[in-house]
Amino acid sequence: MLDGVRPAARSGARLHPLKADGVVPLPAGTTLMHLPGRAATVLQRDGNPLELGGELLPLAAVLPVGHLRTLLPATRPLQGSSRLPLYGYAAVAEHRGQLVVAATATDRFGWWMPSRFGGSDVAAGVERAREALPANRLVGHLAVCALENRCYTAQNTFLRRYEGALPASPACNADCLGCISLQSDGEAPAPQPRMRFAPTWQELAELAEFHLTGDDAAIVSFGQGCEGEPLTRGDALVRATRAIRRRFAAATVHVNTNGSRPGVLRRMIAAGCNSVRISAISFNDSVFRAYYRPVGYTLDDVMECGRVMREAGGQVCLNLLTFPGVTDSPDELERTAQACRDMGVHQVQWRSLNVDHDWLVEVLRRRDALPPQGIGMDAAYQRLSAELPGVVHGNFTRPWPATESAQHSGIEPEGAVVSSISP
Ligand code: SF4
Repeated sequence: MLDGVRPAARSGARLHPLKADGVVPLPAGTTLMHLPGRAATVLQRDGNPLELGGELLPLAAVLPVGHLRTLLPATRPLQGSSRLPLYGYAAVAEHRGQLVVAATATDRFGWWMPSRFGGSDVAAGVERAREALPANRLVGHLAVCALENRCYTAQNTFLRRYEGALPASPACNADCLGCISLQSDGEAPAPQPRMRFAPTWQELAELAEFHLTGDDAAIVSFGQGCEGEPLTRGDALVRATRAIRRRFAAATVHVNTNGSRPGVLRRMIAAGCNSVRISAISFNDSVFRAYYRPVGYTLDDVMECGRVMREAGGQVCLNLLTFPGVTDSPDELERTAQACRDMGVHQVQWRSLNVDHDWLVEVLRRRDALPPQGIGMDAAYQRLSAELPGVVHGNFTRPWPATESAQHSGIEPEGAVVSSISP
């Protein structure tokens, strides 16, 4: 315990006191992590910063799903230190004998409560899938995700409930600084290594059938953390979607995407896709480019993806990759609100961006893309909520009723066979 100093946190590059009214007790499922190669900063009584040296290691909290980080840890990388693994590090402190974190709860949707995951029934579900789909490569791939990487969506797939995973692409047309499946410069390990094969549309449709015949299953989702960009697999996605829609008229057929290919999304919608979640860190071109490093697409394509789904009557979600000091800057908030209106967004999903916070700040600074100041993440949440009446704010995709056009468009492609799988 250190006397005479107060805990500090950061918003972007700016130091802030970590105050009692800006923290909550650690939510169940929080992971505490040391930050090696970093020095922590605290505030002295006079408000001046003090960097702690010696053997003291900074501590950060990684929040469970349904919670949003509001401030970053106050750290500085030491000379020669490595980049941190990709997690959404939040500022943590001790208050009256209890650890507290800079966070706010954003969604309590029961499907994703951590207590519902990790049971021994997952392994049994994997075995059932192996027996039902012995030649389907997605089963082996998702078994690793479910059992080793503890991915909740992969576990759902085998338990045949809620939202199931249909990873589709080993390739991507972006190179995000915070990509959790591939770090192109190899400086940090990717926590969910990228799938190495391109599943056929039949493999995708078969796995969807395995999942959707479960009693509590409602959604299948292309675009997972363990893959690249699903819209780069246009033909496979369109054919798989058609087959799924033909068999499951009421299911939500969803795609998580970087929003790069509205033409492909349009074809998927015609085949029966009725929900999209578009990820974005920013609707400011310089921040977007610095972070996504997109190849062959622009923010105009991203916006168009929202519009085409909205016009077709499907669900449009924005996966807002938040970073205190960027997301909550007044200019960013104005652009985000305008983009939501233009795209007809139904739901904003507030996510803590998984990235080495010191590195991201440095990259944005070098590109002159770091906003001068944020208004605070809580205030940002309130402002966007007020500016977007009728839009839901949360964390998780909900089922969406299939539109009439989607229900009627699931015409099976020539030669298509979707095997019937006994439950
Ligand atoms: S768009 Fe997705 S898969 Fe592609 S680099 Fe970014 S995070 Fe990775």
